[in-house]
Amino acid sequence: MQNKTFYIKTWGCQMNVYDSDKIKTLLLQHGYSAVEDEKTADVIVLNTCSIRENASEKLFSLLGRIKKTNPNAITIVAGCVAQVESKKITKNTIADIVVGTHMYHKIPQLIAELKEEKLVDIEFKPYEKFDSLPVDQESSTQTGYIAIQEGCNHFCTYCIVPFTRGREYSRPAEDIVAEAKHLISKGKKEIFLLGQNVNCYKTDNDDFADLLYKVAEIPGVERLRYMTSYPSDMTDRAIEAHKNIPNLMPYMHLPAQAGDSDVLKSMNREYTVEEYLEKIDLVYKARPDIAITSDFIVGFPGETEEQFQRTVELVKKVKYASCYSFKYSPRPGTPAEKMEQMPEEIKEKRLAILQATIKEYQQKFNNKFIGKTVHVLVEKVENGQLNGRGEHFQSVFANNEDKSLVGSIVAVKITSAGTNSLTGELV
Ligand code: SF4
Repeated sequence: MQNKTFYIKTWGCQMNVYDSDKIKTLLLQHGYSAVEDEKTADVIVLNTCSIRENASEKLFSLLGRIKKTNPNAITIVAGCVAQVESKKITKNTIADIVVGTHMYHKIPQLIAELKEEKLVDIEFKPYEKFDSLPVDQESSTQTGYIAIQEGCNHFCTYCIVPFTRGREYSRPAEDIVAEAKHLISKGKKEIFLLGQNVNCYKTDNDDFADLLYKVAEIPGVERLRYMTSYPSDMTDRAIEAHKNIPNLMPYMHLPAQAGDSDVLKSMNREYTVEEYLEKIDLVYKARPDIAITSDFIVGFPGETEEQFQRTVELVKKVKYASCYSFKYSPRPGTPAEKMEQMPEEIKEKRLAILQATIKEYQQKFNNKFIGKTVHVLVEKVENGQLNGRGEHFQSVFANNEDKSLVGSIVAVKITSAGTNSLTGELV
């Protein structure tokens, strides 16, 4: 298929960005070229996310717009909303193909097979997907992203992921190592291991800690990172890896979700606050300077003021480097949707209080870097400024015009710190 164009719109998490990158690579390999505007594309791929509120409404309104602006395009809905709402999508929209989270590799084949009938493929076959998707990565970033596992067995009462991504599946370590070597050979400096729950990684021979050691020792892997982890799956060996592996970056995203054990129980999180704090202690012992980050949900059904205050206390105790925080909003089909919901005003008030505390600690964490030298993997140089990530994953800026520095690791002495970034001078 020659001279055909495609456009991809991606919502959601890093896994979706990763999946979209693979779809892009696949379509390029099949002779398509990418365009930046859905109105001019022959094929439109909408890679959806169901984590945020109103995900399907946003999708349906975009599909309505496409019906007017580019009705002849082949429209493909992929991702988490596609996985759980395929019937609604095919019945009510112009979408031609609905493809589930494990079937992206079939997109070129489905396009070729498309005639009058709409096509739907939402089977759960993670091994088939990972065996079939290209290992190349089209995005221009200096980081090579690798999905090491997919799916989740935890069934938090607010979350739809176990239904959209299926049960946990871990890829063989050899395949991950081979993919990492390939990405390094293409010039990537950093490997970022991805998954809904990376630290539950387990095959017959390896667990997550084993995998960290295996990937870290690949020549050319200057930096290794991973996301997201589940607190009670974080083993002592995985924590120790932060002490023992020099190129494993001092950064850990360990979502607590709430600071009260009864709320955690109602969320079906499989740890208490005390157990979470024990993990945090071990992490700080292994790597005292580590940046720990978290996610929090406020206004979960039944959360009392005292319980909410314990979440604020947890932020103060852990001294997070940064956190994502959200008001609870029900996801259709999850157990928490059926619980008694809290008034919106209370959720909003609590979120504002929590975010102010998070911001305060974020600023304190960043202030510690003033006067210090951090090493930055340069992502871009534009408008006289260099930008990239330091070891602790902060965004770092420095005045510079030398575009040849993109892709290299440079030393920057920090002169000022904001809540979201550091600024300094090249040394
Ligand atoms: S651990 Fe909980 S929040 Fe995370 S993906 Fe699994 S079910 Fe969802």
